Amino acid sequence: MTFDDFGLRAELLDAIRASGYTTPTPIQQRAIPAVLDGSDLLAAAQTGTGKTAAFTLPLLQRLAAERPEGKRRPVRLLVIAPTRELAAQIHESVRTYGKHLPLRSAVIFGGVGMQPQIDRLRKGVDILIATPGRLLDHLQRGNARLDGIETVVLDEADRMLDMGFIHDIRKLMKQLPAKRQTLLFSATFSADIRRLASGMLTHPVEIDVAPRNSAAETVAQRVYRLEKAEKRRVLSRLIREGDWQQVLVFTRTKHGANNLSRQLDNDGLTSAAIHGNKSQTARTKALDGFKRGTVRVLVATDIAARGLDIDQLPHVVNYDLPHVAEDYVHRIGRTGRAGNEGEAISLVAPDEAKLLKGIERLLKRPLERAEAHG
Ligand code: AMP
Repeated sequence: MTFDDFGLRAELLDAIRASGYTTPTPIQQRAIPAVLDGSDLLAAAQTGTGKTAAFTLPLLQRLAAERPEGKRRPVRLLVIAPTRELAAQIHESVRTYGKHLPLRSAVIFGGVGMQPQIDRLRKGVDILIATPGRLLDHLQRGNARLDGIETVVLDEADRMLDMGFIHDIRKLMKQLPAKRQTLLFSATFSADIRRLASGMLTHPVEIDVAPRNSAAETVAQRVYRLEKAEKRRVLSRLIREGDWQQVLVFTRTKHGANNLSRQLDNDGLTSAAIHGNKSQTARTKALDGFKRGTVRVLVATDIAARGLDIDQLPHVVNYDLPHVAEDYVHRIGRTGRAGNEGEAISLVAPDEAKLLKGIERLLKRPLERAEAHG
C-alpha cells in the first residue's frame, strides 16, 4: 500500500514525498480512509506510530475540498492537545503537510501572552490547535468561536485526563456544534476514556495498532555502557557466545557500516553492509543472503533499513545510537513482532549518554543496563 491509494490531492502527496515517507504506517492505513469518509474515530495509538499524519492528512484533504460560504472565516478544525509541546508539534505537522494548500492555522497555549494569539485569531484561521485551559480563556473573552467547527480531534486523551482536564474538555465540547466529526486518540483505554468517548463519539470506527514504542513488550531491551574502542570486540563476543544466527546491526553512517562489516568478516562472522551508496543489486544480494542464512550479520544505516522487508528478527543491535530518538523505536520495531521474543541491544559509548537519555524520555522508562566484558 502507498499514499497514492487514498486518493489524496496532489498538494498533499507532494508534501508527503518531501517528508520522505513512502509507506503509510499501520494506523495511517486504517485511519486515513475512515477519516476521509467522515466517520468518528476511536484510536489507540502512541507517539511514534505516525498518528499525527493519520488525522492531519485526511482532515486537510476534507478542509481543502470544500469552502464554507460567506465572508467570515470560521475555525473549522479544532485539535485539542494536553501540552504546549504536543500542540506545537501538531501545528508543525499541519504546516508541513498543508504547505501547498491555502489553509490558515494557529496554535494557542498558556504560559505566553494572549495578545499575539488574539491578533492571530482575529485574522481568521481554518485550523486551530490548542491546549484546553488557554482555549477556554479565549472563548470566555469572546476572542474565538467554535460554532463553525466541522471536526474536533482530542489527541492523547489519556494524558488530558491524567492532567485533570476533564472539566475543561466537557466545557469545550458543549460549545461545539452537535453535528460534527470527532476523533479521539489515546495511548490507553481506561474505563474513564471509554466513558468520555461514549459521550462524544457516534458509531466510531475503532482502531488499535500495536504501539511501536512497546512493540517492545516482548522485546528485551538492554544497554551496555562501554568505550567506543570496545564496541566491536563486545559485539563479536555477544554474537558468538549467544550463538546468534541472524543479527541486524545499525550504524549511524555508511562509512561506519562498511568498516564494521569488514571487521566482523575478519572476526569470522559473515556479514554484509547495506546503505544508500550501495547499488540496488548489492542490496538485494545482501538481503537475500541474510534471509537465507548465508549472511549472519547485516549492518545497515537507518535510511537503508527503512525499505527492507524484514522484521521478526531475534536480534537487533544499535552499534551507534541514532540521533533521533524515534529512530530507536523504528529500529527495535524490527524485532519481537507479533508475540515473537526478541532482543534489542544498544552499545553506548560515553559520548552517547545524551542520546540515551532522549530515548529513555521518549519511552518514558529507563532501559536495563547490562555488564559488558570485552
Ligand atoms: P507521531 O506518531 O505522529 O508522533 O509520528 C512519529 C514520527 O513518524 C514523526 O517523526 C513522523 O514524521 C514520522 N512518520 C509519520 N508517518 C510516517 C510514514 N508514513 N513513514 C515514515 N515516517 C513517518
